[in-house]
Amino acid sequence: MMKKEHKYIFVIGGVMSGVGKGVTTASIGKVLQANGYKVNLVKVDPYLNVDAGTMNPVEHGETFVLRSGLETDQDMGNYERFLGRDLPPENYVTSGMVYRDVIERERNLEYDGKCVEAIPHIRDEIVNRMERAAMVNGSQISVIEIGGTVGDFQNAMFIEAARLMKARNPHDVLFVMVTYLPIPPKVGEMKTKPTQNAIRQLNSYGVQPDFIIGRSEEYVDERRKGKIAEQCNIRTDHVISAPDIESIYDVPLNLEKDNFSGIILAQLGLKKKHKKADMEQWERFAHKAHNPKKEVRIAVVGKYFSSGDFVLSDVYISVIEALKFSAFALDAKPVLTWISSQDFESGKLKISELKKYDGVVVPGGFGTTGIEGILMAITYVREHTIPYLGLCYGMQLAVIEYARTVAGIKNATTREVDKGAEHLVINIMEDQKEKLEKKRYGGTMRLGVYPANLKKGSLARSIYRTDTVEERHRHRYEVNPKYVSLLEDAGLVFSGRSPDGTLMEIVELPKTIHPFFLATQFHPELQARPLDPHPLFTGFIKACLQS
Ligand code: GLN
Repeated sequence: MMKKEHKYIFVIGGVMSGVGKGVTTASIGKVLQANGYKVNLVKVDPYLNVDAGTMNPVEHGETFVLRSGLETDQDMGNYERFLGRDLPPENYVTSGMVYRDVIERERNLEYDGKCVEAIPHIRDEIVNRMERAAMVNGSQISVIEIGGTVGDFQNAMFIEAARLMKARNPHDVLFVMVTYLPIPPKVGEMKTKPTQNAIRQLNSYGVQPDFIIGRSEEYVDERRKGKIAEQCNIRTDHVISAPDIESIYDVPLNLEKDNFSGIILAQLGLKKKHKKADMEQWERFAHKAHNPKKEVRIAVVGKYFSSGDFVLSDVYISVIEALKFSAFALDAKPVLTWISSQDFESGKLKISELKKYDGVVVPGGFGTTGIEGILMAITYVREHTIPYLGLCYGMQLAVIEYARTVAGIKNATTREVDKGAEHLVINIMEDQKEKLEKKRYGGTMRLGVYPANLKKGSLARSIYRTDTVEERHRHRYEVNPKYVSLLEDAGLVFSGRSPDGTLMEIVELPKTIHPFFLATQFHPELQARPLDPHPLFTGFIKACLQS
């Protein structure tokens, strides 16, 4: 049963992938929210992985962890950032989840001896999941992005499920197609034919798009809007222009130039709650993003950095955005330099290069590559009082560095690098051992939100201005409790701990020793929002600007 009066907007890609369907979906959500509606953003990924946690980030981009602990696609991060709120696990659906549940039910004889088939069983499971996502958190509109492009074999079942939902409730479901309009350099004009073909392809599924969002380098002019409209049975004012722009945060503002929210709400039979979408705060943020008064130079040190900028921005998208939000709030523009820690190890890059930067970030990571180079960088920034922010692995390595260089535990290391080492300052968490031994890797890390208590008088507590916080996690290893008092005696401060006091969540150095040396076992970047920058990132950028 479809939830009464709930509206569903399906976003489907045409022509090619990689043209910003995720950001467009997030922006549609934003402008509808700005009209006073509670919007749910849902991502459908057609792959057979049950979640995004087992995929290589270099190939697939960052794994975004929800509050619940579900490991999802990076688009979910954009959705949360645009809406400014947490999204529930129901809002992420993969083919893997759908097939797993259907097969499990079949094994339990829940289909009464019937032949279990893609249609109706897989399709109906998809419809159920869409409806379940609509039921959570009292939302009125779901905007559902179907991954991939029309014509892909993999996403056909999802489009079929959407078609069925429209057939059952024609007034509550609509389709938006995000297409690409190329401007071939030799031709010099924008071509609409690939878009026309993509729409026909969608028609062959029994689906007619209600809106076309035309992505291109330029604005889609009236003539071309008219051509698409005529060829594809769409109203001209339902062809929306989405040209390339400098910042993804301008996309919602741009959609509103074509009065998108007004038209789409009318199509859904919903009232516009305000005369004009309330985008004031967002506009202020976008204005600050475009008008920084100064620069802040940040080196990000880690591995995975050899694939060029293109891939990097996808692997560390939440870290990059978190740095931006805090910098913009302080009227600064972050200028990021990616430094591969192996270059320090090989001597290709001198460690003193780090002097050039206002601050250094070591983001999360896994494995053994480039670890010694990162440790060299941490020693340098600690000794030269350059602001340091360590995230997850960046905290574990800060602890190892301190153990080796200050506390005198010369061969301190993490079990992730050397299982049999004498001093495992970072060790596997007790409940993780069995999972690794049995090779149960998928979805088994310590994931999602956990609380931490902050130490009185610490830097962390002064930045957060509270005594407990809830942050999102994704790790298997922890500071070995056996070494805590030894490290404390050597001057390291464990300023955040799990409520039972056993798990170290934040380490720092006193302000009298270093202006900003702080690292977290959790991932604060996952909760940073454009209109609500994360205090730790803001504290870090402030220190960078003062250094
Ligand atoms: N590899 C480390 C662990 O599993 C850190 C994980 C991370 O940085 N996300 O604990």
